[in-house]
Amino acid sequence: SAGRIVVIGGGFGGTACARALKRANAALQITLVEPNKVFIACPFSNEVIAGLRGIEAQQFGYDKLAADGITIIDQAATRIDPQQRRVTTSDGPSLTYDRLVLSPGIDFHFDALPGYDDAASEKMPHAWKAGAQTLLLRKQLEAMADGGTVAIAIPANPTRCPPAPYERASLIAHYLKTKKPRSKVLVLDAKDGFPQQRLFEKAWKDLYGGMLERVALSQGGRVTSVDPSTNTIITEFGNYTPDVANVIPPQRAGRIAGIAGATDMTGWCPIDPVTFESKLVPNIHVIGDACLGGGIPKSASAASTQGKACAAAIVNLLAGRSAETPRLTGVCYNTVAPAYGFSLAGNYQPKGDIFVEVEGGATSPADAPSELRAREAVEAERWFQTITADTFG
Ligand code: FAD
Repeated sequence: SAGRIVVIGGGFGGTACARALKRANAALQITLVEPNKVFIACPFSNEVIAGLRGIEAQQFGYDKLAADGITIIDQAATRIDPQQRRVTTSDGPSLTYDRLVLSPGIDFHFDALPGYDDAASEKMPHAWKAGAQTLLLRKQLEAMADGGTVAIAIPANPTRCPPAPYERASLIAHYLKTKKPRSKVLVLDAKDGFPQQRLFEKAWKDLYGGMLERVALSQGGRVTSVDPSTNTIITEFGNYTPDVANVIPPQRAGRIAGIAGATDMTGWCPIDPVTFESKLVPNIHVIGDACLGGGIPKSASAASTQGKACAAAIVNLLAGRSAETPRLTGVCYNTVAPAYGFSLAGNYQPKGDIFVEVEGGATSPADAPSELRAREAVEAERWFQTITADTFG
């Protein structure tokens, strides 16, 4: 046969990779393993939390991939045998592969945050995987009385989508300002600096002055443990008992990557950035949030561009050619209020074992007229429509 490729994870990375492989060579046998029949996208889920958008706008199915000739297995991958090159699924067939692509996204590193686990997330939602958690956080905000405090705990890097916690803080502040104006947002942060900080801080001052307070790492803002029985968040500085606690725990590669033997001590997957091949397990490629990407942020936009580059590398490797050096692009939009957005675009290339940013990137100016902010908010929405149509449509 021309080549059997199994892709684990039907999110932004895995789906882009599966489609690009099929488009490059229709004779390839592509199987996508994904337990959910409906994918729920994280980008724009902060708008759902803020009541600006319904969750339906975040939901995507796999019908078009099936129509492309990709076999969809709606099961979770449970075991990987790299010697036999076989994937076992929870309740379905086992699958053999010539090449395996892992794009399982993230799981949480509960050991790194005492007191927090799946049960705690039912009281102190992370909402860092979109779906029920997103709706739970929304429900808690709706139930909160005016004058309450919403705390957001932000972990240290590396994490999925580094600017998204600050976007979330902004949009929650927007909801409170319009519906419960005596309330407050408290950001407890394990970092001092963060992406697009000047733009966020300007927006907070202009839009949410007095409502939004951030305690940075150097001020004792790092959360060291939580107590879900009392809704308490413990930091290096003191204890907080907010009305709503959005606790975003430390993260690592999706569990199946560890089961495959593809994670190192960091909890993430080291790769050869030219081919996305695991440094630890042969014939396995890792893309998206799960890989150790270095300078490329963990984003949907990065996962998608990596998925396509990985597909191109696999096509070359299967044909006995060497892979071409990928040039990756990513863009990240942040919306801090309706009609108020800004962005960060970057280009990335392999260097050693990671990706580094190369010239050609751009960030929105810190001082821009409101027309530009409004235009970028519209462009953000267009970006979402484009990437989801490209991935699932
Ligand atoms: P995912 O898209 O999470 O896909 C992983 C898939 O793998 C899931 O469908 C999961 O079910 C599946 N899976 C896991 N384990 C298994 C298994 N064992 N077997 C089979 N399947 C499995 N990025 C942007 O570019 N722009 C944004 O504006 C943006 N906003 C964000 C806002 C928030 C609040 C958050 C949390 C994230 C945001 N992101 C954004 C980041 C983006 O969502 C992720 O970086 C992106 O989804 C990563 O793609 P991925 O393919 O690595 O993982």
